[in-house]
Amino acid sequence: MVEKYMHETQQLLSGIPSVDEILKSPRGIDMLRRYPRRFVLQGIREGIDQRRREILAGRSADLSEEILFAEIEKIVEGLSALSLRPLINATGVVIHTNLGRSTLSARALENIVRVSESYSNLEYDIDAGRRGKRYVHIKRILKEITGAEDALVVNNNAAAVLLCLNTLAKGREVIVSRGELVEIGGSFRMPDVMSSSGAVLREVGTTNKTNLLDYESAITERTSLLLKIHRSNFRIVGFTDEVSIEELVSLGKRHNLPVMFDLGSGSLIDLRQHGFYDEPAVQDIVKSGVDLTTFSGDKLLGGPQGGVIVGKREYIEKVQKNPLTRAVRIDKLTLAGFEATLMDYLDEEKAVRTIPTLRMLLQKPEEIRARAKKIVRALKRKLGESVRIEVMRDVSRAGGGALPERDLPTFVAAVSTETMSVNELEEALRKGNPPIIARIKEDSLILDARTIRDRDIPILVQRMTSVLSLQE
Ligand SMILES: *Cc1c(COP(=O)(O)O)cnc(C)c1O
Repeated sequence: MVEKYMHETQQLLSGIPSVDEILKSPRGIDMLRRYPRRFVLQGIREGIDQRRREILAGRSADLSEEILFAEIEKIVEGLSALSLRPLINATGVVIHTNLGRSTLSARALENIVRVSESYSNLEYDIDAGRRGKRYVHIKRILKEITGAEDALVVNNNAAAVLLCLNTLAKGREVIVSRGELVEIGGSFRMPDVMSSSGAVLREVGTTNKTNLLDYESAITERTSLLLKIHRSNFRIVGFTDEVSIEELVSLGKRHNLPVMFDLGSGSLIDLRQHGFYDEPAVQDIVKSGVDLTTFSGDKLLGGPQGGVIVGKREYIEKVQKNPLTRAVRIDKLTLAGFEATLMDYLDEEKAVRTIPTLRMLLQKPEEIRARAKKIVRALKRKLGESVRIEVMRDVSRAGGGALPERDLPTFVAAVSTETMSVNELEEALRKGNPPIIARIKEDSLILDARTIRDRDIPILVQRMTSVLSLQE
């Protein structure tokens, strides 16, 4: 008996094709065309090992060559997949830092391709026929839009803050309100950034209240800068007091000290006109006479990652000359995306339509409801009565440390089923391809129509159908 069994096992084992045989088979040749050779080899070896273990364990699985090849291809596909990949954001958080913040407009994408598939005048002055500066490509448009004397863009806003502080306040004191020393997600702590810049932090006031006298009495001959910081995703409510940027600017003038405002998000359109945000535009901040203002490129602005610095020429020139600027300079892909995004702001109505971040934030509840209905209808058509799917009211968030305290009314597709727990459903959608990131509320999976784009809907429906029908 034992001998017969061993003989059978031996036969099955020797029936497994060799690495070489698989490589030379039509399937192997096809894989070599589509995937890197080393991953094909690794996949074949792992597939063969797996098959061997199955045989030795006496598992009566399907031992056909077809299944072996399919297993191998799955392994090779996994090994060859790119790590950074697109996904569907069904969370309703528009500027989701973990999900890549802003998505780019068609115009920005086109320009990135146009500029990067060819040589360009990145640092070349075409008129003069000699070396130029990369920053010129964005100064004019930023000045035009914000009304500032001068502008500069670096790698991100954290770098912009670091650079400005290092340029203006290294080894000297910067006065900041204690209520504004915030930590922004991703462990960006304002006090830590300040110490890395070499500036010495001089905190004034208390967590909830700071008045002009607090700033004024802290001014000494060591003071180099008055700094105001947007509280971002942190809000102090109730018994509070803060000094406006206008008051700080006039204090700075009296003491001959520059004033800087780290706006964090920084919107180039007045969101107050659109109803629900209490956020001044960068243009209004510039009008206050503040010397330097910094903000992100990929938060409310809706462009690529970047840190914008606008303000008085005297200070921007100093910042631009700082050797650290070279270490955090903006690359040509970003510059191309930035310039094209900014062009849309010349016509505010256009910006609201074409820049995805603005469109998602400012779309009317009826539009979101219509999209939620469309999602629910499409899902019901495919899934029938086995799954409970309905349109519900909910709230979504702006995110990005911009205006997250504010609930934005939204409409969602709420999904639940008897065949699968909501946690299993969430996980299956998250781990599939493309991943779909959704939230859970009570026993339902919530798909927020605010951040789901029309083109995502067919993919969403297909993924939901395959996840839920696998369960039957
Ligand atoms: C987001 C934020 C930053 C950091 O900006 P990045 O572009 O992410 O580097 C700095 N300050 C404030 C107030 C912010 O909200």
